[in-house]
Amino acid sequence: MKRFNILVSAIVLALAFGGTASAAQQDPPITLDTHVDIPFGLMHDPRFDVGKQTPLQVDLDKMKRGGLDAVFFIVYVEQGPLTPEGYKHAMEQAKQKYDAIDLMVHTYPDRIAMATSPAQVRANKAAGKLSAMIGVENGYSLGHDIKNLDEAYKRGARYVGLAHMGNNDLCTSSTPEASLGDTPLPEYGLTDFGRDVVKRDNELGIMVDVSHSSDRCVRDVLALSTAPIIASHSAARALDNHPRNLSDELLRAIAAKGGVIQVVGVQDFIRLDPARQLAQKALQAQIAKQAGDKEFDSEKHEYLPAYIEGMKRIDAALPPPTVDDYVKHVKHIVDVAGIDHVGIASDFDGGGGLAGWNDATQTRNLTAALRRAGFSDQDIAKIWGGNLLRVWGEVEQHATANHGKR
Ligand SMILES: [Zn+2]
Repeated sequence: MKRFNILVSAIVLALAFGGTASAAQQDPPITLDTHVDIPFGLMHDPRFDVGKQTPLQVDLDKMKRGGLDAVFFIVYVEQGPLTPEGYKHAMEQAKQKYDAIDLMVHTYPDRIAMATSPAQVRANKAAGKLSAMIGVENGYSLGHDIKNLDEAYKRGARYVGLAHMGNNDLCTSSTPEASLGDTPLPEYGLTDFGRDVVKRDNELGIMVDVSHSSDRCVRDVLALSTAPIIASHSAARALDNHPRNLSDELLRAIAAKGGVIQVVGVQDFIRLDPARQLAQKALQAQIAKQAGDKEFDSEKHEYLPAYIEGMKRIDAALPPPTVDDYVKHVKHIVDVAGIDHVGIASDFDGGGGLAGWNDATQTRNLTAALRRAGFSDQDIAKIWGGNLLRVWGEVEQHATANHGKR
């Protein structure tokens, strides 16, 4: 009799929700993206008020509709000269981004809250709120002063990427910048200041991020860090031979240390297409010229209708890599490094976006692509956030344990 009741209930439920009971494919427990850029005008420029409709790939409504729970918003600064003026400028730019993230959570407290620990991410989800975390991209904004790392932690930063494009005072970059006077060699790896930053990251409970670091720098960090490390947005070099991607050897080494590689959704790092790259560069030059500017400025030009239309034409002629191409990188990293060491990073609003996963509303398309590739619900929960939250928790615990010893 009881059995019959359960059966009836299942049929009633299925009818009520217009599907079969087996089609109840739940969203993963936590969906977390470790790399979403923000424009300098976030919350100040009316176009970029994330509580409203925006042209951004990630805003609050898009996260909610797509089922994306938690995002590391990025305090990014471009690499500039290693001079007092250069450091001052970088620190001012970083402050602008921290302030914008603060303003976002203070303007929409019912919709999104800061999370400075894995427990807070879970609590926010339970309270029906989105989570905002902070990741720093380019240790240049520390202004060559270790005290500023403590300030970054106080402002909420929970991972710090050492470099960006161009060598800096922390380490060598995976893409040295000739315009800054860089030469590909010697690849000096971690500097003394870089070593201080890694050690202090370990003490504070900040995840060390090696995306954008050169291979030697990644090895130096692996040897020095006493806690697991992350690559916040990098893919597999075996599938796309780009210096920004990680070799199998480094994927294994990051996993052996308990860390996680968050696969990046940037087209060039997923499947390199030189013809498409050229077409896009030509379009960018044309749009900048039409706007009377010397160079393409993504914040100013990327959301112009002429650029969007131009990109549609390029997409039709030279199709971009797809969400399934992205999942090939996930699969490769699982094969090489293991299911516990891979995660998700879109790089939305910073150059990321693939066919089928081009903004936060398409979060479930990625989940579906992972299912198509044969991943179980348990695997998908690890990939979408479980692994990153585990590593973050370990880094946090490690800091607490060491705190007493200092
Ligand atoms: Zn980046």
